[in-house]
Amino acid sequence: MENLSDNLLPGQYIKKLAACVLAASCSAAILSGCSKDEEPTDPVLVTTVTESTTQTTETTPETSAFVTYTAQEYRDAGINELNSVPVLMYHRIYGMKNSETSYTGGNVDKDGYNRTSEAFEADLRSFYEQGYRMMRLTDFVDGYIDVPFGYSPLILTFDDGIRDVVLEGWNDDGTPRFDPTCAIGILEKFKAEYPDYNVTATFFVNDTLFENGEENDRKIMKWMVDNGYDIGNHTRDHKKLGGCTADEIETQIGYMYKKLDQIIPGQYVNIVALPFGSPETMGPEHPEYEKIFAGTYEGFEYTTKASLLCAWTRSYSPFVRDFENRRIRRIRGYDNNGEYWDIEDNFKQLNDGKRYISDGDPNTIAFPASDNSSGDWLKTTYGHQVITYDK
Ligand SMILES: [Zn+2]
Repeated sequence: MENLSDNLLPGQYIKKLAACVLAASCSAAILSGCSKDEEPTDPVLVTTVTESTTQTTETTPETSAFVTYTAQEYRDAGINELNSVPVLMYHRIYGMKNSETSYTGGNVDKDGYNRTSEAFEADLRSFYEQGYRMMRLTDFVDGYIDVPFGYSPLILTFDDGIRDVVLEGWNDDGTPRFDPTCAIGILEKFKAEYPDYNVTATFFVNDTLFENGEENDRKIMKWMVDNGYDIGNHTRDHKKLGGCTADEIETQIGYMYKKLDQIIPGQYVNIVALPFGSPETMGPEHPEYEKIFAGTYEGFEYTTKASLLCAWTRSYSPFVRDFENRRIRRIRGYDNNGEYWDIEDNFKQLNDGKRYISDGDPNTIAFPASDNSSGDWLKTTYGHQVITYDK
């Protein structure tokens, strides 16, 4: 993953519409025999690129065009979409300098769940300079990763709603004015300063929302979903679901979805950040945990498509065997002198060959053929085109 930021600035790489534009080169004959009613199920299309040629096997009648590069270009950029993705877990952001805390780095508390605004800004600059670009968690869960060629996805999450969205007042035009040191205040600043960062984040809230008063919070949430942010479910009362009965889980999850649906109908994400990361396992011995994923609360039916742990490390790519949408791992946004899964430790590991690097096309999955030599590491393609190259 060498010198990413040096040699892969936008516009410096050459986009190359390569030989395999399917409609043109591979499948005219098949196309003529295809009608909408007779689409085959689950076509898997593997394109292997070599030094000078592109070969496609297992064709599909879909007409699709996609960009490929030479094996050398994939190698030079380190393209690998089976590698891992950082999903950051933050809590409260306090308007403080690091020198004002008595804990390590930018930690505001002993365990580093809360962070200074100085450290959070430094995190965002550092991720940007390392070639990360933000994307929505909900797209990630859907296997849709839209990041430019040579760049890596970065996903931000905030739990509990406290000190994340601090309202200072309302402007004459009806837009909210935020404390510039809270999470969204800083994100809005980065949105203006770094237009190609694709600033976005998902906020997981409880019944108390963002603690600006219910009426203000309802207006803020509408503004948030219209301005590139997502809001998800963190249970009604921040309950440890691992200790709850099925009925209690249905209340905790269903109440919160129902409330979100009243405030921002159809615009929240059906994702749960599990309070305390509990339960950690959801085996068949615990059928009550199914209520996290489907249930009914006071006549309101809900489903959940993914849940997040309160964990320590990078997430698997959604395309690989070990990815579990019910146990998505996150990196805790804290400092510990580069040890024990702090931010520095995690990004060092990512940059040391573990990092998802995009080929720029959300509808393809590109990686070195040797990374799937077992044949079963690539597990879910979401209908995407698969492209392999020799490392
Ligand atoms: Zn929480």
